Amino acid sequence: MRTHAQAVVIGGGLVGCSILYHLAKLGWSDVVLLERDELTSGSTWHAAAGIHGLHDSTNISRLQHYTMGLYKELEAETGQGCGIFQPGSLYLAQTEAREHQLRLQEAKARRYEMNFHEVNRAEAERLHPLVNFDGIRCIMYEPSGGNVDPSGVTHAYAAGARQRGAEINRFTPVTGTEPQADGSWIVRTTKGGIRTQWVVNAAGLWAREVAAMAGLQLPLIPTEHQYFVTETIPEIAAMDRRLPSVADRDGEYYLRQEGLGLLVGAYERDMKFWAEESTPLTFGHELFPGDLDRIEPNLLRAMDRVPVVGTAGVKRIINGPMIWSPDSAALFGPVPELRNYFCCCGIIPGFSQSGGLGRLSAEWMIEGEPSLDMFGWDMARYGHWAGKTFTKARVQDQYAHRFKIHFPNEEREAGRPVRTRPAYALQKEMGGVFGLNFGWEHPLWFAAPGEPRTETSGFTRQNWWEPVGREARMLRDSAGIIDISNFAKYEVKGPGAETWLNALFANRMPSKTGRSCLTPLIGKRGGIAGDFTVTRLGEEEFMIIGSGMAERFHQRFFKAVPLPPETTFRSITEATCGFNVAGPRSRELIQRLTNADLSTPSFPFMTSRRITVGGVETMALRVSFTGDLGWELHCAESDQVALYNSLLETGREVDAGPVGSRALMSLRIEKGYGSWSREYSPEYWPQETGLERLIRMDKGDFLNRSAYSAIAGEPARDRLVMLSVAARDADASGGESIFLPDATPVGQVTSGAYGYTVGKSLALGYIKNNGVKPGDKLTVAILGRPHDAVLLEHPPFDPEGKRLRI
Ligand SMILES: Cc1cc2nc3c(=O)[nH]c(=O)nc-3n(C[C@H](O)[C@H](O)[C@H](O)COP(=O)(O)OP(=O)(O)OC[C@H]3O[C@@H](n4cnc5c(N)ncnc54)[C@H](O)[C@@H]3O)c2cc1C
Repeated sequence: MRTHAQAVVIGGGLVGCSILYHLAKLGWSDVVLLERDELTSGSTWHAAAGIHGLHDSTNISRLQHYTMGLYKELEAETGQGCGIFQPGSLYLAQTEAREHQLRLQEAKARRYEMNFHEVNRAEAERLHPLVNFDGIRCIMYEPSGGNVDPSGVTHAYAAGARQRGAEINRFTPVTGTEPQADGSWIVRTTKGGIRTQWVVNAAGLWAREVAAMAGLQLPLIPTEHQYFVTETIPEIAAMDRRLPSVADRDGEYYLRQEGLGLLVGAYERDMKFWAEESTPLTFGHELFPGDLDRIEPNLLRAMDRVPVVGTAGVKRIINGPMIWSPDSAALFGPVPELRNYFCCCGIIPGFSQSGGLGRLSAEWMIEGEPSLDMFGWDMARYGHWAGKTFTKARVQDQYAHRFKIHFPNEEREAGRPVRTRPAYALQKEMGGVFGLNFGWEHPLWFAAPGEPRTETSGFTRQNWWEPVGREARMLRDSAGIIDISNFAKYEVKGPGAETWLNALFANRMPSKTGRSCLTPLIGKRGGIAGDFTVTRLGEEEFMIIGSGMAERFHQRFFKAVPLPPETTFRSITEATCGFNVAGPRSRELIQRLTNADLSTPSFPFMTSRRITVGGVETMALRVSFTGDLGWELHCAESDQVALYNSLLETGREVDAGPVGSRALMSLRIEKGYGSWSREYSPEYWPQETGLERLIRMDKGDFLNRSAYSAIAGEPARDRLVMLSVAARDADASGGESIFLPDATPVGQVTSGAYGYTVGKSLALGYIKNNGVKPGDKLTVAILGRPHDAVLLEHPPFDPEGKRLRI
């Protein structure tokens, strides 16, 4: 066994082997995989191994598409059979919402040149004569859908990795991972230790136990999962081709051909956890007893749809464990608190995703950043607040509703609340309807007396659409009070504070106390890794405000620049709360509660001051994400209720009231402001987002300056634009494809909302830099159907930015 390696991958399941293969393929041949048993000894060996290309998340679709194409390449390259069958997949919609979901995916497929298209019933019956299509309102067909052989694929990755110089040690359990002073790790095994630059946790069912060796707790929990295979079905035996798989997600089961019978699996409501506290180290190639009664409701629906399922005998039942994260997406990426410790854990559809995850893992370790934005899958989306109770409740919900549609803006209740602020109870009393943001409960909107306090979900406009409009209009007409306690806030203090901030961010830090600046953070590939407001509070004191959901994500970047001596950095997110008071009467409102002079000459736009508001000490910043006149008032968490009560009470005198984050979303879109993980992501270059104007190349070095420098002269590949959409009962929400009038795909929406105060349905998005100009017509595939749209020259609300400055 080697004693040194560039990376040590722990776990020889499908995912670990793919990561090893891709590390070697991208040029690191000095890599080692350690497997405690035989390869495939976790969830991998007993999987149904179905493969699909389309996913609600665009980047996951791209990653799955890559994976599906890779298996044949891998087979050709290694000579190891992967048992690939690609007879296609049929996707059935029984409901209008499912039809919308499939049509949205079809439009995305056209944008990314993937083959996923609608077929009529006659064609579907020809493709799969054993399915009863009664009651199905829309059928999509993906010709490359199918399944692979779990062991074949895993061994093919292993063979490909070995061919490129990687080493695989089977029957070599890892017993410890020890960080070294020089930043490397020693990975201990029963056969000795290996010193390595990177540790990769791909230990699947045992990811929690391996993480614990490094002092980490991962929000993961295993469940049982079952499928069964039927005896030979004469109709199938008589066929001269293989049948496509059937994705009848409204029926909550999956079905495909296996041998000359069928394989049917289900995610049952009456789900069962396994090994809640820890996965036994002694567990090997074992299965649990079959329990088809538990999945009977799902099976009855499968029998209705494919009647031969009900008449065929059961040949074997597979009931095995799989391990889940709270949202069923992977826990992916380097652990921000550790140096060079990479996680790729909690993967549910591993066979659809192994290739893409392996490639992006290798890119991240070797090149410093994945080529696709993976924020939604980044393990940093969960913090310490995602403990065992939360994880268990969320996993139960995820498993039991595996095929339920994730609607845009949908907030699931399971496991909440986990983190609340002091004003939570008051906001609830006031009719607040809450969302989850990095664990925090934050008000989305406020129901008026008599209105329902729960929201409906769907692709069309829902019951919150009117109340949110009411709040948006109130803010633009008078003022609104928005709880912004969920923003991430940091404090930097000391003699080196300015130097450190200038070495981190791309803009020049404000030189005068009380001044603020907006600044991008630049990623390893020169893209946007964050957008922040930095305020100089004193000679040696600064406050940074950024996206709350990226709090843990930010740490990777903040840690990359060493703090100068006697300079401190700390998160003050938990200790502080805040309200954005915005709208034309916001000055009048706050002025009634403070002696400070809020007039523009004394308190101009983009400045800050410590002021007392309603008896509460606040840090007041004259900025507002609404695009309107406004102040952010940040205070100690213990003062939140007092400040809120004062603002609400005085607010009533000027016709102002509470406003939720959903109205904020609409208001910022009216103004054309981008937001993190939507318009701003490492995938986009500054010159594509419009943020290049905030980069100061003449101020000296800053984080990833050379990466930006390398692409700064390149023309924008895509550009951020704003569209007015002829939408009637559904607005864009993000992810919808954009087409030229002749149906040529040209881009995708990043955010969408109805602009209540400008009377337009709006979308922000990226389109190719191909000569489309303001006033030109495009279409947006809302609900998967073309909706006419016009490219706007300016944001419809206050394009000259006068309201901010009055
Ligand atoms: C019944 C069932 C059906 C499924 N059907 C499908 C499907 O149709 N399509 C699909 O895409 N996915 C399916 N899956 C999911 C799929 O199996 C997983 O996504 C995939 O196998 C995860 O692979 P992995 O490599 O992450 O984890 P695992 O397969 O669990 O591999 C982890 C490996 O790490 C090793 N290991 C653990 N601890 C140590 C240690 N300390 N030292 C060294 N090695 C260690 C283990 O021995 C194991 O080999 C199914 C799962 C189940 C249970």
